[in-house]
Amino acid sequence: MTMQNLWDDTIAASSVTPLALRAYTSRLIGGNKDMVLYGGGNTSLKTADTLYVKGTGADLGAVREEHFTALDLVQLRSLLNDAGMHDAELMNRVDACKLSPRSAKPSIETLLHAALPFAYVEHAHADAVLAVANVANCEERCAGVFGDLAPVVPYRHSGAALARACKEVFETRATTRTIGLILAFHGVVAFGNSARESYENLLRLVNLAEDWLQMRGAWALPETDEFASGTDRAESLRQAASSIAGFPLSLCRVSTQQTLAYARRPDIAEISQQGPPTPQHAIYTKRLPLIDGDIDVFARHYRSYLQDTLGSKLHDIDAAPRIALDPSFGLCAFGVNAHYAAVAAEIYLHDIAIISRASAHGNYRSASAKNIAQAELEYGGYEQRVRAKHSD
Ligand SMILES: [Zn+2]
Repeated sequence: MTMQNLWDDTIAASSVTPLALRAYTSRLIGGNKDMVLYGGGNTSLKTADTLYVKGTGADLGAVREEHFTALDLVQLRSLLNDAGMHDAELMNRVDACKLSPRSAKPSIETLLHAALPFAYVEHAHADAVLAVANVANCEERCAGVFGDLAPVVPYRHSGAALARACKEVFETRATTRTIGLILAFHGVVAFGNSARESYENLLRLVNLAEDWLQMRGAWALPETDEFASGTDRAESLRQAASSIAGFPLSLCRVSTQQTLAYARRPDIAEISQQGPPTPQHAIYTKRLPLIDGDIDVFARHYRSYLQDTLGSKLHDIDAAPRIALDPSFGLCAFGVNAHYAAVAAEIYLHDIAIISRASAHGNYRSASAKNIAQAELEYGGYEQRVRAKHSD
């Protein structure tokens, strides 16, 4: 099932400004959950000396003109060229490039968008691309599948470090055929000089990945014809997880032939304990799922993971799992309420697809524990906000 081109000439023609057109193709990308999930991904437009980039927090699938933040492109680029400036300082300076102080905080990937010399830039966490790229031999695999259409950028933390790496790879490896970049263990970037070209370049890379996986026999997901049984077990895990969290967690159980097959894989302890396909997913799923039902051991490991990676920056992130896999029930997700439990479950279904497909052609890998922990800390915190709202 190749990803469809949803470009519509009539809707495109009714977009009266370049930014309205930018918002239109952003919604085409954001509306497809095989492209981005729950706040992931970002897009931009350049006109003369201005960069319009999606504000943080806006959902790409529903984004409108007013959700883009205008920034001084010349200033942004001079920040990138200042080799002496530290990454953290650089990110603080990005906000000062906003043309209107009242506009939303610009996307964390603003500098990446500024660094690329195209009017339109798209960034997504497309499942098919991650399923090709997230393997131990990522560079070699991507070179074989995408070649100079999309050179691979080694994993860097979102923000200044990733922007600089993209700039360097683009400047040293792009050819006249290049239409994007593969971000190892993170996602994909595509670009073009018109809204349509840029959108279609992203589709082309995603479809190339899917076609390759199909050809390798790595696309179809394993299924079992056996039944689930563990309703009581899922509920007792929810109670144990709630007591570790210190507040009641909601449960979303997904017992399908696919989740059961995944939880029963003989290599589950290996492939499920590498980390999420892209750091953003960890906001909802945490870095690793629980696989053996021992919540106390999970909590102990989770606390030492936070301590080892974040140290004194550690805040009040609870140590309960958000995803549990079990041969009896398949998948269950926990959340601060029923909505977020369902979100975590949905994201993990995408992770199952990506990890299974990657494991069908290589050894699945993710970004390092330290990188995932940073993402959990930087983007996280929504659960505290949800709970604070309820206790108002
Ligand atoms: Zn991203």
